[in-house]
Amino acid sequence: MSEVHTFAGGPLDRASHRRTDTDWLAAQLKNPATQIVPLWKQQPLVTPRRDGIGWLSVEAVEGYLMSGVPTVFLGEQGGVAHFAIDVSAYEDANRSEPFIDVGKFMDLRAIALRLPVGDPSTLGTAKAILDWNARHQFCAVCGKKTEMRDAGYMRKCSDGECNAEHFPRTDPVVIMLPVNGDECLIGRQPMFPENMYSCLAGFVEPGENIEEAVRREVFEEAGIRVGSVRYHSTQPWPWPSSLMIGCFADAETRDITVDGEELEEARWVSRALLRDVLNGATDSGVLLPPPMAIGFQLIRVFAESG
Ligand SMILES: [Zn+2]
Repeated sequence: MSEVHTFAGGPLDRASHRRTDTDWLAAQLKNPATQIVPLWKQQPLVTPRRDGIGWLSVEAVEGYLMSGVPTVFLGEQGGVAHFAIDVSAYEDANRSEPFIDVGKFMDLRAIALRLPVGDPSTLGTAKAILDWNARHQFCAVCGKKTEMRDAGYMRKCSDGECNAEHFPRTDPVVIMLPVNGDECLIGRQPMFPENMYSCLAGFVEPGENIEEAVRREVFEEAGIRVGSVRYHSTQPWPWPSSLMIGCFADAETRDITVDGEELEEARWVSRALLRDVLNGATDSGVLLPPPMAIGFQLIRVFAESG
């Protein structure tokens, strides 16, 4: 089965062939039809009244464009170009025009579930790519300044000898639900709210495939040996640039030994208990993450199967 998780499934055509067409890009940044979303300190402008992205015209943000704020091309929809700009350099953007007339800069995680389908993906892309540009101002090879290219999808070293090209990162993270018969293993990170449990997760390391990363992380965090691994679905998670790779894992052992650092507790729970939690039961001592998280969706799929 396929799942389109929150932060995936955006409506824009990324139109990557446009990124190197500097004449076309310049023309779009004068086009009255063009739509631009500003982000301030990684928070997108949203319109609480209409519950959507706070798109602005070129005219509305002309002063910001003239001042040279970082500007990235997001894609096209119906022949209309869409961009994102980073206005983090401005203090108090929430009280400045034209933003104050449109909406508010808000934390994407906090508002994602209230946005129309597809908007979290567009804003997640904007946040990830602007944040990557902000974090890669200097060349990782020689330390000189880098310059934005390809409408934000590449940075080039300004040193003529070095010329290194840097591309946006996407960091693969395995997130998995170990399964044994009618039960699955859920765990608590120390930073979780009280009683909240989710899937186990960890970064894929260089030289590792997805299955190996799943087996290593489950053993390191919970002391459980895993056999076969089944891929389920993925979710872009732009904090700052992860791709969550959701898997089910066949547990071959059941004795839990938590590492105490990444996990403070792990436990086996039955489908019946999870179904009760999903149906709103509050006396089980188990809370799940919000539905926008792939961890919730993997647990839900397990609970509703079998
Ligand atoms: Zn360099």
